[in-house]
Amino acid sequence: MSNASPRPCPICGANHWRNVLTCTDHFVSGETFQVEACETCGFKQTQGVPGDDTIGNYYHSEAYISHSNTNKGLMNRVYHLVRTYMLGRKRQLIASLTPGKRLLDIGSGTGHFLQHMKMHGYQVAGVEVDEATRQRSIEAFNLMVSDPACLYQQAPTAAYDVITMWHVLEHVEDLDTYLAWIHEALTNEGRLLVAVPNCSSLDASVYGRFWAAYDVPRHRWHFTPTDIKTLMVRHGFNLSACKALPFDAFYNSLMSAGYAGKRPAVLHGGWTGLRSWFNSLWHPERCSSVIYALKKNTDK
Ligand SMILES: [Zn+2]
Repeated sequence: MSNASPRPCPICGANHWRNVLTCTDHFVSGETFQVEACETCGFKQTQGVPGDDTIGNYYHSEAYISHSNTNKGLMNRVYHLVRTYMLGRKRQLIASLTPGKRLLDIGSGTGHFLQHMKMHGYQVAGVEVDEATRQRSIEAFNLMVSDPACLYQQAPTAAYDVITMWHVLEHVEDLDTYLAWIHEALTNEGRLLVAVPNCSSLDASVYGRFWAAYDVPRHRWHFTPTDIKTLMVRHGFNLSACKALPFDAFYNSLMSAGYAGKRPAVLHGGWTGLRSWFNSLWHPERCSSVIYALKKNTDK
């Protein structure tokens, strides 16, 4: 049945949605949220995401490891080992795309990526919404990190060679404002790097509503590679490269197997992760999470 959502689809502009999945917030609240799909283009979004006054409550969890520095537990230890490895991979990717050194990381979290880039000669700045996380990253690494409100207050033109959003765009409410600001802030030869989960990946198909990267209600948007390309073209960007995030296939599969009650979850998730990783080996856009490197379309 059609469900009139108050907002038009950010991908195609249509305004008719139908419920396709009932997902549970496994991390924090245990509440359920509907994921709905645009009837015109198929793009998926979370319905009824809590407003600015309460959404912060859904991020307050020790288990939300992307915002924590704990090394307790096997998953956290693995996560931190992978993060260290991926810092180098991300830097190599950026260096291969542009020689520019002025970098802005939107959603800079704990600041480890900015610190890594600073150590390798980049002039770095960050934006982080959570005040406590922002302050910790400033104190730990002496970084320049601002509140996202700066995105609306400042209007720098061509100030950055690289703008990164690592698993951030799926959380951002106002895509139009963010992407318009980023377009202004990026040099013509610069690159925007966006990493987001891919809800058309093999592991997403296997686990359905239990797929960990639906992560409702924190993830508002559930992008496929086609959605990202269409969204970015609408905002004046062209896709210049696509890279897989192979560890996410295993991480998302292991978490999802646990949510789905598969026993033993390690074997089920490990096997699915392996299949998903293999499936994306020569097709990075099939991976569980994908990095999209985007360049400004300067023809317009
Ligand atoms: Zn649509």
